[in-house]
Amino acid sequence: MIVGDLKPLEEIVSAIKEYKQVLVLGCGSCVTVCLSGGEREVEQLSRELSQLQHYQGTPPKFEVGCILRQCERDLVLEYQNIPAGTEAVLSLACGAGVQTLADAFEPLPVIPALNTTFLGASDKAGTWTEKCKGCGDCILIHTGGICPIARCAKSLFNGPCGGSKGGYCEVGQGIPCAWAQIVARLKKTDKLHHYEEIRAPKNWQSGGAAGLRKRVRTGLGDGSKSN
Ligand code: SF4
Ligand code: SF4
Repeated sequence: MIVGDLKPLEEIVSAIKEYKQVLVLGCGSCVTVCLSGGEREVEQLSRELSQLQHYQGTPPKFEVGCILRQCERDLVLEYQNIPAGTEAVLSLACGAGVQTLADAFEPLPVIPALNTTFLGASDKAGTWTEKCKGCGDCILIHTGGICPIARCAKSLFNGPCGGSKGGYCEVGQGIPCAWAQIVARLKKTDKLHHYEEIRAPKNWQSGGAAGLRKRVRTGLGDGSKSN
C-alpha cells in the first residue's frame, strides 16, 4: 500500500487559514489502512483544525467527506457532495489522489494534508516499512523476495557493501542489512545460485528515468485472439 503521514499541523494551518470554508476529504483505501487518511482521521483533523488557538483570526468552517479512492478519476467525478461555499479542499490522500482531485475539481484549490512516504507493508500493528520503490522491472525472483532497491540503504544490486555487520546495515538504528537478509533467504530456500548469477545492468527507464511513466492495461486478455 501507499503509506502517508500527516503533515505538521502548523504547515496545514498555514495553507488553509486564508479560506472561510474548507472541505476535509479522506480517501478510503491505502491511507485508511495506514491510519492516516480515512474517515476517522478526517473527523479528528477537522476537530483539531477548528481550535481557535491555531489562528490569529477566525478559523475556517470545516465540512468533511471521504471518497473510496481519490486516485480514481471516475470515483472523484461521481463525488457530488462538495458543500456550497467551499473555498478549498484539504485532501488526506496520497500525492496521486491529491493530483486527481486537483484536475477534477479545478479551479478549486486542493491542499495536501499528508506527506506521501513510500510503498510499504505493515509488519506489526501500527508500524509500516518500505518494501518497494516501484522500479517497473521487479527482480524479487532473484533476491529471495526481498527488494534491494527499497530495503538496502544504497540500493545495491550485487551483494552487501563493506558496512554490513552482524546482519545489520551501517546506517544504524537497528536496520537490518537487506543483502544479509537476501543471502540468508536464498540459502534457506536453496536458491543461492541466484546470488552467484551475473546479470545485465538494470535498465532504469522503467523506474522513471525516461520521464513520466504511464501504464496501459496489459495482462493475458480474454484469449479471443489466440491461434
Ligand atoms: S524490484 Fe522493483 S518492483 Fe520489485 S519490489 Fe523492488 S522496487 Fe518494487
Ligand atoms: S550494509 Fe547492507 S543494507 Fe546497508 S548499505 Fe550496505 S549492503 Fe545495503
